[in-house]
Amino acid sequence: MNTAKPNILVIGGGAGGLELVARLGRKYGKTGKANVTLIDKSPIHIWKPRLHELAVGVLNSDIDGILYREHARKNGYHYERGELSGLNRQEKTITLDPVANDDGEVLLDQRQFQYDILVLAIGSLTHDFNTPGAKAHCFFLDNIQSAEKFQKKLLEQFIKLNEADSPLRITMIGAGATGVELAAELHHVADTLSEYGFKHVCAEKLKTRVVEAGPQILPAVPEKVAKKAASELERLGVEILTNTRVTEVTEQGIQTSAGELLESDLVVWAAGVKAPDFLTTLDGLQSNGRNQLLITDTLMTTEDENIFAIGDCAGLELGENQWVPPRAQSAHQMADTAFKNIQAILEGKALVAFEYKDHGSLVSLAKYSAIGSLMGGLSKKSWFIEGQMALAMYRLLYRAHLMAIHGAKRGWVYILADRIGKLSRPKIKLH
Ligand SMILES: Cc1cc2nc3c(=O)[nH]c(=O)nc-3n(C[C@H](O)[C@H](O)[C@H](O)COP(=O)(O)OP(=O)(O)OC[C@H]3O[C@@H](n4cnc5c(N)ncnc54)[C@H](O)[C@@H]3O)c2cc1C
Repeated sequence: MNTAKPNILVIGGGAGGLELVARLGRKYGKTGKANVTLIDKSPIHIWKPRLHELAVGVLNSDIDGILYREHARKNGYHYERGELSGLNRQEKTITLDPVANDDGEVLLDQRQFQYDILVLAIGSLTHDFNTPGAKAHCFFLDNIQSAEKFQKKLLEQFIKLNEADSPLRITMIGAGATGVELAAELHHVADTLSEYGFKHVCAEKLKTRVVEAGPQILPAVPEKVAKKAASELERLGVEILTNTRVTEVTEQGIQTSAGELLESDLVVWAAGVKAPDFLTTLDGLQSNGRNQLLITDTLMTTEDENIFAIGDCAGLELGENQWVPPRAQSAHQMADTAFKNIQAILEGKALVAFEYKDHGSLVSLAKYSAIGSLMGGLSKKSWFIEGQMALAMYRLLYRAHLMAIHGAKRGWVYILADRIGKLSRPKIKLH
């Protein structure tokens, strides 16, 4: 590396990017060995697997969100707000779109940043497969803004429900982790609202449905886990429709391939993800059918060794048509390998190869339970786990993320502060 003080640029401070930039900042930014910069279009970080909690108001981004500027100050990196829109590999620069406020007033003009090492960690977006009416009539859980948009609408619907006799009909399209976890949280929130004066709101007045095109819910987990999750959801009162493809979404509800109209007051599209479209034309970098940037096992893009890609926006083939799945544990593991390889570049050591380890999956059913399978041991056997033990393990995953982004000591302080803070605030966001 020629530069005296290299510029390391991480774009996207999500599950993978924030863990990586925090480690780089603590090791190289604080010691003045490199300029470490994070660019994110949002000013706040919420761990994406918790977006469904934000969508029902169990989380509040003003209280639970991590401000990048504050996190940067404490972890030795620099933060810039902006949305990546262009790349010039020859000049080693990236371009950010202008930043405007809600009224459209431009606060920051288009800007360019120079890099020596670039890490793209911009995640994925919901894929609606161009289904007619989806964009106009569905809510999506892609980021803080879209989750909060749903939360506001949901609260309005609960206000109406408190005065109404007819049920509130909410349909989730897609029975992956997002659809299933959201359905369970909706029932939890409906039951909790009566403590806050919504005397006539309860889970029994909800008519929730999860619609899945495939033969089982949670397609990525073992059948036993999926069956158990389905029976738990049904016990809560969630209707499950498998082998049901949505052909159109209208103001009235969803139209299925069987010709049925399922009337709905709110529809959430949670079926499938893809990386942002612009990655397919990003200065000659290669991508796959899901718009993910193709990378080698060092996590460098196939076309450029100065550019890494990690997490949902990165495509690493494990076998024929088998890719590292777009999950938080993949982003976490990739952040670890990217850190080691950036360290190797800066210190002139050998690069290491990324090896994906599937540790299993856990799905939370709000406060009621969690279900999943853990992979472990020499035999790589999968262990079925459920109930409060599984719920405790599910919560540990977020704590591990907090430890990774804050460091162990400060991580514990945040966890304790969160526990204490919960004693003095409402259980649900009520505005
Ligand atoms: C409701 C829900 C539940 C989930 N549950 C689970 C689960 O139980 N287990 C699991 O393993 N996975 C789960 N996932 C998937 C998991 O959240 C993702 O796989 C993971 O967050 C991917 O991490 P990432 O770092 O690649 O991207 P993200 O965490 O999505 O972070 C991307 C970051 O990039 C920023 N960004 C995006 N575009 C730009 C741009 N153009 N310029 C600048 N910044 C940009 C975003 O603001 C964001 O901060 C869930 C997802 C959802 C939505």
